[in-house]
Amino acid sequence: MKKTSLDTLPAEGGLGDEPLLAVDNLHVEFATRAGTVRAVNGVSYSLGPGETLAVLGESGSGKSVTAQAIMGILDMPPARIPKGEIRFRGTDLLKLSDEARTQVRGQRIAMIFQDALSALNPVFTVGWQISEMFRVHRGMSKRDAMIKAVELMDRVRIPAAKQRVNDYPHQFSGGMRQRIMIAMSIALDPEVLIADEPTTALDVTVQAQIMELLAELQRESNMGMILITHDLGVVADVADKIAVMYAGRIVENAPVHDIYRNPAHPYTKGLLESIPRVDLKGQELYAIKGLPPNLLDMPTGCAFHPRCPYRQDNCVTDNPPLYEINGRRNSACHYWREVLDGDQG
Ligand code: SF4
Repeated sequence: MKKTSLDTLPAEGGLGDEPLLAVDNLHVEFATRAGTVRAVNGVSYSLGPGETLAVLGESGSGKSVTAQAIMGILDMPPARIPKGEIRFRGTDLLKLSDEARTQVRGQRIAMIFQDALSALNPVFTVGWQISEMFRVHRGMSKRDAMIKAVELMDRVRIPAAKQRVNDYPHQFSGGMRQRIMIAMSIALDPEVLIADEPTTALDVTVQAQIMELLAELQRESNMGMILITHDLGVVADVADKIAVMYAGRIVENAPVHDIYRNPAHPYTKGLLESIPRVDLKGQELYAIKGLPPNLLDMPTGCAFHPRCPYRQDNCVTDNPPLYEINGRRNSACHYWREVLDGDQG
């Protein structure tokens, strides 16, 4: 296939009708000894400047694999993308040359990973690691790059940045290390930031601080943000819209308030009911029954049917399409009306 060079990728500016980032009917599969694992099956979503999309789902739902496909960091093989497009400013990233893809990665689309300790290099100071971004990508001198590193550490609120720039990752707390990761990810002013479970390893108070910091940085720079999480509780205040994934598909997408007010898919409803609530202290916490499906041996019909309290006979045979509801949201459930009405039949 002929690869497109970076020259064809539009610079920052007006987007017309095209979203900043559009994932369109993406399929990702992995060749394994046990067979082909279809990890992502026809996922579509889009993101505008200044917008936050939360992608939600249990592990194995395909949310991180989709993000890795956007970043171009999947190992291919064993991964394969048999179908779909990932358009950034209207250009399909899957058709870019490797060299052009490398330039997009980090500079125009950046990613924060879950585990800052393993993502940072333990043998280099944090200042060296942040300033490397400016030396490599902006051609800055060592001194100027280090000044920028201190500025960035200040921006992500690392106390006494000037003194701490020569410290090593292990000398920082988990929350501070995540701030360093965030500093590295925004160093080159990306237009899209993908945060993959950025607060999972942190305690609740630090989680809230990191989410607040991300929201603030986004407001300042108008970047689009994809927030990947398994926890519906952490995204309520920051997301504009939510895409819920299950077994490699989007099963519901909607503006954030619609989802919290009234979910249209039994899986989303179960996730919402699993969030601990202060007003229900002392009561047993709800948990969705069963486990996510084995992607090598998917259930027939609707993949959620073995766990679904709304299941009817046709759910076992007919895979639901992504139904459009009121022109503003979608649900892959034959019985979305009953789910919205809270009627389990
Ligand atoms: Fe449940 Fe059926 Fe809807 Fe699937 S289609 S989520 S099994 S009610």
